[in-house]
Amino acid sequence: MAGLSIAQLLQVLLEHFGPQNWWPAETPFEVCVGAVLTQNTTWENASRAVGNLKKANLLTPEALSSTDEGELQNLIKPAGFFRQKARYLKELSRFVVREGGIEGLKAQPLKVLRPKLLNVKGIGPETADSILLYALDKPSFVVDKYTKRLLYRLGVLEGESVSYNRVKTLVEGEIPPTEEHLKEYKELHALIVELCKRYCKTRPNCRECPLRELCYNQHNP
Ligand code: SF4
Repeated sequence: MAGLSIAQLLQVLLEHFGPQNWWPAETPFEVCVGAVLTQNTTWENASRAVGNLKKANLLTPEALSSTDEGELQNLIKPAGFFRQKARYLKELSRFVVREGGIEGLKAQPLKVLRPKLLNVKGIGPETADSILLYALDKPSFVVDKYTKRLLYRLGVLEGESVSYNRVKTLVEGEIPPTEEHLKEYKELHALIVELCKRYCKTRPNCRECPLRELCYNQHNP
């Protein structure tokens, strides 16, 4: 890997921003719901939809799986793609109920759980890994568009359009997916999002970025 290691990246970001203590939710099931609602939209929009579900007392797998789909669509409108996401939420909540709830899921090993989650309609790798990491406390690193952008600009990746698994394998190759690295995985993803929202935007603000001394893009604009 060129120059910077993933461990160094985590250290610099932690020193600059401090721990992020993600995910912003009151229960593990709320994390699952938020992970679906934030697909293709901002966290702010997803959060408004989560708030509506909370007010309607629908943030349990049992309540969500048995609620009327039309009512659900109305409540989650702020998150966009509401018909599709209502269907996905119904599928996910039925899956959680079938598997014995959050505790039933937590009791299963990561290598069994991940393929099961990926089989649920509407759950792709990023959503599955968000649920695994932040709702179920399984060490599965989450890759998103920010991760690809940042690692490309840092000179770690050969392009931004590399596959999800390429990035996941690279990070997990350096910081192995074991229990002892759970907290690091949680922080690393959250800190990358924070850095990219504040500095490494589409048009980067390199002058104020905490990574400017280590960044390939900064030295080769
Ligand atoms: S120095 Fe610039 S390109 Fe590099 S990580 Fe920071 S904002 Fe992004």
